[in-house]
Amino acid sequence: MIIIKLGGSALTVKDASTPTLDEENLDRIASEVSYYNDDMIIVHGAGSYGHIYADEYKIGDVITNANEHLRRIEGVCKTQTSVQQLNHDICQKLQQKGIPAITIKPSSFIVTNQKRIAVCDTTIIKQYLENGFVPVLYGDAVLDMDEDIKFAIISGDQIITYLAYDLKADRVILASDVDGIYTDNPKTNPEAKLIDEVTQDTQLNTTSNENMADVTGGMNGKIQELLKLAENNIQSQIINAQTPGNIQKAVSGQNVKGTIIK
Ligand code: ADP
Repeated sequence: MIIIKLGGSALTVKDASTPTLDEENLDRIASEVSYYNDDMIIVHGAGSYGHIYADEYKIGDVITNANEHLRRIEGVCKTQTSVQQLNHDICQKLQQKGIPAITIKPSSFIVTNQKRIAVCDTTIIKQYLENGFVPVLYGDAVLDMDEDIKFAIISGDQIITYLAYDLKADRVILASDVDGIYTDNPKTNPEAKLIDEVTQDTQLNTTSNENMADVTGGMNGKIQELLKLAENNIQSQIINAQTPGNIQKAVSGQNVKGTIIK
């Protein structure tokens, strides 16, 4: 079984001020994914469909009064509806390409505790897989057991880490909008170098690896999740979904430029 994570950065216009789909990319990416004909789970990021509301409504921040609680509730509703809309468009496209994509809504069965997945019964995912479906999950706004925050955002990256371990995935492929993990953000630093392999040692060795401190936001969270997977002996690979043919090659088991996390 393989898990493919389709980054919000590749499927949506991530820095847009309103949720915006990258239709051309979605169409091509869905075609490329359809080259895989065995057990597969697809997890997609929320991109501009999630971040806008998550930021605006401060989901995951401590709630200090009743008004804030009401506002968070409004934010959770809006975030869930928005990411569901993205998921609807993605599943529809995957189905058009012949993939039996079925939505499993994360917030309907996942509860976090201090932003980490605490409740997640994967029975239904296994059963869909056994029946030949391709379950599709995504980054979502969920209930959190911590009374101070009550709600949290779970990234698609946290979901793949959990599922890959729980369902014993053979391979995990993450398709992003960059070639992999660089010494610095390649979008802002033209000198940044692609790192072929990242291990627990790379991460822990802060003195000889001080450039890692420049890894910001999304990519840093991704590395933390993927290192947890690596600890459990599941190797993952980050590739660039913007390069036509990359996903097709990766799902077909061919070599693709990128970063391996092991
Ligand atoms: P996705 O939406 O594909 O899951 P993110 O947007 O969360 O991915 O993270 C990818 C982004 O991380 C890239 O577009 C890049 O601008 C940024 N980034 C920051 N630091 C790095 C780094 N060291 N290496 C690669 N990308 C980085």
